[in-house]
Amino acid sequence: MTPAIRPALSVVAPCYDEQQALPEFLRRVGAVLDGIGGASEIVLVDDGSRDGTWKIMTEAAARDPRIVAVRLMRNHGHQLALTAGLTVCRGERILIIDADLQDPPELLPDMMALIDQGADVVYGQRRQRDGESLFKRASAAAFYKLIGRLTDVAIPTDTGDFRLMTRRVLDLLLLMPERHRFIRGMVAWIGGKQVPLLYDRKARVAGESKYPLAKMVRFAADAITAFSVVPLMASMTIGWVMAAVGFAFFLYSIIGWLMGMNLPGWTSLMAAVGLLGGMQFLMLGIIGAYLGRLYDQSKGRPLFMIREIVGGPK
Ligand code: UDP
Ligand code: MG
Repeated sequence: MTPAIRPALSVVAPCYDEQQALPEFLRRVGAVLDGIGGASEIVLVDDGSRDGTWKIMTEAAARDPRIVAVRLMRNHGHQLALTAGLTVCRGERILIIDADLQDPPELLPDMMALIDQGADVVYGQRRQRDGESLFKRASAAAFYKLIGRLTDVAIPTDTGDFRLMTRRVLDLLLLMPERHRFIRGMVAWIGGKQVPLLYDRKARVAGESKYPLAKMVRFAADAITAFSVVPLMASMTIGWVMAAVGFAFFLYSIIGWLMGMNLPGWTSLMAAVGLLGGMQFLMLGIIGAYLGRLYDQSKGRPLFMIREIVGGPK
C-alpha cells in the first residue's frame, strides 16, 4: 500500500457480541471524525460474535464508505482481534478503542493535539472508573503493581489499550510476532515519546463485559510471562533457601544421631514434605506456564484468520 493513499486517521475497534453498543459507538465516533475532518476510516473487527454484530457492521459499511468491517473466522480474543484490525488499517495515525464506549471517542482531538506536539503515543489513563466492580478495580491495581515489580518495561498503570499512535509505532508493533499479546505493554516497550491523557472511564453503554474472571486471569498471566522471567527464576531463589534449610536439618539430624538422640520427627517431617511438595508443584507449574506459551509460539500458526472484509477501498 503506498503511503499516498493512506487516510490520516484509522479508528480500530474489536467487537465481540456488541450489537447493543455498536450503533451508538458508530454514531459517536462518526461525529468525532466529522469534527476533525480529513480522510479517515473506522476498522471494526467482528471477533466471531454470536449476535447480530456482523449484520450491523456490514449495513454500516454499506452506508458509510469510511467503515471497514473485518470478520474473523472465529473468536480469537480481544488482543488478537485487535491485532487483526491493526494489521488491516491503513491510517497515518491509529486510535485503538473499545466498542463499548467505556473510553470516550471525544478525547480524540486532544490526543491528536498531543501527537501534533511531538508525541509518538498518547495513552488514555483512567482517573476514575465508573460502573466497574470494586473487585475489578482492586485486581487491576494489584496486577499493575505486580507487573511493575516484575519487569523493567515501564508499563503505565490504569491504562487499557485506548490510545492514539503514529504509523511509525504501529509498524514497529506489527513486527512483533508474539502470540500471547499484551498490547499495551508491547507499545510501552517500543518507547519513543509516550504521554498520558487522563480521563474518567465510563460504564459500558450496553451489554456486558466480555472479560469474565477466568479470561482476566489468563490475560494477566500472558502479560506477566510476556514481560518477565522473574517467576521462572523464583524457583532458583526458593531453591537456595530450601537447600540451606535442608542442609541445616541434615547436620542437625546427623549430629543428633551420632550423639545417640532419638528424634521425634513426625511433625517436622510432614511439614517439610508438605511444604517442599507444594513448592515443587508450584515451580513446575510456573515452568509449565512458560513452556506452554513457548510451545504455542513455536507452532508459528497465524495470529488471526480473516473470513471476509466488507467496505473500504476496492
Ligand atoms: N472483545 C473482543 N473479543 C473478545 C472479548 C472482548 O473483541 O473475546 C472486545 C469487546 O467487544 C470490547 C473490547 O474487546 O470492544 C473490550 O472488552 P470488554 O469491554 O468486554 O472488556 P472490559 O472493558 O470489561 O475489560
Ligand atoms: Mg469494556
